[in-house]
Amino acid sequence: MLKKIFAVLLITLFVCCGCGQKQQTIENDLNKIVEKDKLTVGVRTDAYPFGYLDKKGHYKGYDPAIARTIARGILGSDKKIKFVTVTAADRMMKLYSGDVDMIVATMSVTPKRRQLLDFSDPYYIAGQALLVKKGSKIRTLQDLNKKKAIIVFGSTSENSLRTAMPTLGIIGYKTYEQAYQALKKGKAPAIVSDDTILLGMALKDPTVELLPKRYTKEPYAVAFRKGPESKDLIRAVNYIIETENKNGNLKKLREAYHIK
Ligand code: GLU
Repeated sequence: MLKKIFAVLLITLFVCCGCGQKQQTIENDLNKIVEKDKLTVGVRTDAYPFGYLDKKGHYKGYDPAIARTIARGILGSDKKIKFVTVTAADRMMKLYSGDVDMIVATMSVTPKRRQLLDFSDPYYIAGQALLVKKGSKIRTLQDLNKKKAIIVFGSTSENSLRTAMPTLGIIGYKTYEQAYQALKKGKAPAIVSDDTILLGMALKDPTVELLPKRYTKEPYAVAFRKGPESKDLIRAVNYIIETENKNGNLKKLREAYHIK
């Protein structure tokens, strides 16, 4: 099946860009990736089970798995992928500095981000929630009013809390490991973030609890530099995601990483 995707993409590439039109070929990110024969992708290592390193230091999780699927679709092999670790705060910068070709990093599509980035179709829908220590009196976001909450810099929860709850004290960290350590040390009674990432923490630590209420819808999508040079690449990525979704492979991947 993937060989087929690869063939279709190559045909699309030549039909869309026109063989022999060198100028246009150079200004097309999909062509650049094919010419380099390498795909560089920004992923998380602090967002288990979406992006983390295993004991051997290998990139694991649903996001790197999707990135490998994209590499197979575009280049015919996932050996041609190079991963670069990004955080919530530096992922956009790493895209614009050219360090990565795309970001697959628990990144929600928002109207504000759409002004700066282009996105694929969503491949997952998360929702903001609260992680607390088991037995905590905090049960809802409202219970946090005039108290403190832990967030990760550059995340949608940082943005929504600063706007919607100005009286809330916000303690920010660069990574989710640091945020988790801060919760354990009692720096604040809750972490506010996506249920997916918080569930990852709760799966590993029975002394913390993911509360049931969801406060937002967070559609995760692959992010690209904004502009015409990304168009064919986005089309290719959408084609791969749609095909892998229809044939059930994405579902199998989610199951492998205990993602609902
Ligand atoms: N999905 C949210 C975001 O894009 C939060 C998860 C994250 O820190 O990446 O900001």
